[in-house]
Amino acid sequence: MAPIRIPALLLIGGILWAHAGCGSKSPSAPGDTEVCTGYSDPASSQYVLPYLVGVTYRIIQGNCSAPGNGHRGSDRYAYDFDMTIGATIAAIQSGVAIHVETSHFDGQIAPTGLDNYVVVRHNDGNYALYGHLTHEGAMVATGDSVARGQAIGGSGNTGNTNNIPHLHVDIHLCDPVTGGTLGCPTVPLTFRNAQPNPGRLQLNERYLAVAY
Ligand SMILES: [Zn+2]
Repeated sequence: MAPIRIPALLLIGGILWAHAGCGSKSPSAPGDTEVCTGYSDPASSQYVLPYLVGVTYRIIQGNCSAPGNGHRGSDRYAYDFDMTIGATIAAIQSGVAIHVETSHFDGQIAPTGLDNYVVVRHNDGNYALYGHLTHEGAMVATGDSVARGQAIGGSGNTGNTNNIPHLHVDIHLCDPVTGGTLGCPTVPLTFRNAQPNPGRLQLNERYLAVAY
């Protein structure tokens, strides 16, 4: 069955951010050609992996994922890491937490509307979205300053996860909650402290977060 897409403009109150994200609700029709280019040199990236130094996770959905997956179209530069429920999420860049939603329970699965998330506005003008957090899993509140590498929450299994616990992370040109991901598309993201470090992280590969 073809996935049903809810236009971002119809979403109300910001809660139903257009996280076409991880499941099958894709902004692109299956078979569309997806192009992911424009990655910066990871050695000069100001972003770090979204977990603590010394920890390794695997990419279970990368950028420009295959037809039928969610990291396509305006969401094509998102990454999913195989983090278990409660695993610590670290901020990829410094900024201010502008949205914190953690009311939903793990196992509440839906294409939109049941995600827990944190959005951080960075000093460089981009916005990071951390999705699928665990119930009451935020370690920051709206308005809090966040330092790069700071623990900001626990990963979980809420929203559009296909019932596979993981962390969804990406960066946007504007606020993806108020603007929707169609209006605020994802942009290429590399991490300075991944080992190995191919620039664009690759599906099914494991990445150790090293000191930076
Ligand atoms: Zn995702």
